[in-house]
Amino acid sequence: MVDGWKGWGCMVDQINSNFAYRKTSRIVDTSAESQPVWFIHEDIHDADEPMLSPLFRASFDQWVNEAAGLASFEAGEFLLYNREAEEIASAGLQQRETYRNAREKLSTLVRSVIIGGDPCVKEEEGFFIAAVPVCRRNDGSVFCVFAYMSSIEKQPELMQTQLCSMHFRSCFYRNFEQLYVKDLLLQQQRAEMDAKRKDALFQASKRLFDQIDVASVLSELLLSLEQLYPDSEVHLYLSQDHLNGDPRVKPLVFKNAEHDLVAKAFLNGKSVTEHDRDGTLRLAVPMTGKQAAYGVLCMSIGPGLWDEADLPAFLLLADTSGSAFENAKLYEQSNLLINELRLINELTKRLNQSLKLKEIFQFATSELLTIFDADYCCVLQLNKEKNQFIVMSSNFPSIKNEQFSPDYGFCGMVYRTREPLIISDYWHTRVVTSMLMDNTSSRSLIAAPIMVDGEVVGVILVTHKTPNFFSYENYKLLQVMSTHIGLAVTNASLHAEVRRMVITDNLTGLHARHYLNEQIQSRQRKDPFGSLILVDIDLFKRVNDTYGHQVGDRILIQVSDIIRGAIRNGDIAARWGGEELAIYLPGIRAEQAYRIAERIRQHVEQETDPVVTVSCGVSEWTFEDDKISVESLFYRADMALYDAKNNGRNCIFVGQS
Ligand code: GH3
Ligand code: MG
Ligand code: MG
Repeated sequence: MVDGWKGWGCMVDQINSNFAYRKTSRIVDTSAESQPVWFIHEDIHDADEPMLSPLFRASFDQWVNEAAGLASFEAGEFLLYNREAEEIASAGLQQRETYRNAREKLSTLVRSVIIGGDPCVKEEEGFFIAAVPVCRRNDGSVFCVFAYMSSIEKQPELMQTQLCSMHFRSCFYRNFEQLYVKDLLLQQQRAEMDAKRKDALFQASKRLFDQIDVASVLSELLLSLEQLYPDSEVHLYLSQDHLNGDPRVKPLVFKNAEHDLVAKAFLNGKSVTEHDRDGTLRLAVPMTGKQAAYGVLCMSIGPGLWDEADLPAFLLLADTSGSAFENAKLYEQSNLLINELRLINELTKRLNQSLKLKEIFQFATSELLTIFDADYCCVLQLNKEKNQFIVMSSNFPSIKNEQFSPDYGFCGMVYRTREPLIISDYWHTRVVTSMLMDNTSSRSLIAAPIMVDGEVVGVILVTHKTPNFFSYENYKLLQVMSTHIGLAVTNASLHAEVRRMVITDNLTGLHARHYLNEQIQSRQRKDPFGSLILVDIDLFKRVNDTYGHQVGDRILIQVSDIIRGAIRNGDIAARWGGEELAIYLPGIRAEQAYRIAERIRQHVEQETDPVVTVSCGVSEWTFEDDKISVESLFYRADMALYDAKNNGRNCIFVGQS
């Protein structure tokens, strides 16, 4: 075997990477007449020369095998030289010491053959040396020199060397053609593979862009990679929390950025490769969109399975997945925002339909439970007078109407910090004790303050039994919603205040006349009976004249306070007009009303300063009356009052029904 020959595989490889011969421009025709001839027109070119050694050796070897029977092998040595006159291969009788001189001479002879292009023969110092040019089949130029040398006694004919050279030449072209065809096939195979991969890649990109949610983009990417690189191990490291339960998707952790391949790729924004000791290639490519880098695609490929030519395709896929991931994320985020806006809009609309605080809290509780898919919700309001948080609404019945000190539990924490709160697992972060969390076995919590005019007036608590249930988005959304609940509370409070002002008499603090009218009307629709007392200060004009209006006002207030102290919670006292006051007593008959009026009369006489007296007229209505109305009730009380005045004042009369 010729030295240096590494087999066909090696030669094919070398030629594939370096061979510069022109590809035929002719279409490969496989029809019977043209099939065997199309490539005999192909030949080597000058640029191929430096790469021809393996082909020379292989062809020379083949020739030696085929011509092994020749006696000349025993008589001398055949040699092959390239165009640089360097010896490439030799076979036959090797007596290097004896032939040293002859070899040098041969070398000179070869050079002259290369230049002259004609065969040369020499007999010198007992040696015969012959050198024959081997010419290209297309242009006849010399591309190597075939030579023979032996002692003169065993001199062969020049003709035989020439024949041998022709035989070698045919071996050379046979090998060349074989190699040429093999290379063509390989090129074709590679082109097909490339086309297939490109197609697969195109399909994968298309499928990636078809996905509009993040989870689908990730699974599509992993699936595509598995199909494109079946023998590799793929991992995806994400910098954001989009872990979807797939073990191949992991969080991106920065341990030692210098040594960690994945972190390095992410931070530098470039692909990084590394070879393990066993030859496994680890490739990390950042997954980047237009706005940010989202993670790193990492592949481990067994020794010899990676082709550098695959890198651009892989980078393209990583790029595509980055953009698709970004699109899906933006789409998801905008959907989330739209949803949030819709929810806020609905909540605000519904909240503003009610001006009653209790209703607002109840509605907020039920809405928040639905929006967050929560287990429990509790809305507390701060009662400033009692300095206590009172549970205004909750779907956990036993906590309703409970009161807590402003430093207790999570409510206390929110009150102190004036900030919203998220607890992922109450069992592991018991920063405070919470009755709501304990009694409902809840583990997740989001809480937010209800602010009115920059002050915490209430707190919302939303819980779930599962740990880590609420997301950061939930926490932010609750914060936004609590602002709107705060606005609704402000509206309701303002409305309540205006209403209070409208139905209250300024001077006495008793109800206004129209409120009393409304209330009597409404009670007459529901109750079986009720009574009215009209109270009129006796000779009040004289009091005013004697002590002045201010003192008169004070007395009016004193009498009003006495009335307030003499009646029950459900009774309604009002200023009927001037110095006339009225008290409606629901569910009270005239007899009892008389006693109450009498109590008032006595207290006024005893407690006013300067002393005044009052006269009272009492009337009643029952469901049995022919005509039930506010006017008739007043009319009869007024008549009775008139009687009392006529009877000398400071007394009580009951009107006839
Ligand atoms: P009578 O015993 O018959 O009721 O005598 P009177 O003086 O109380 O009756 P009259 O109806 O003649 O006078 C009512 C007076 O009450 C007239 C008015 O000056 C006084 N008055 C009405 N409203 C107020 C008020 O808001 N403040 C003060 N200081 N006086 C008032
Ligand atoms: Mg009067
Ligand atoms: Mg009067």
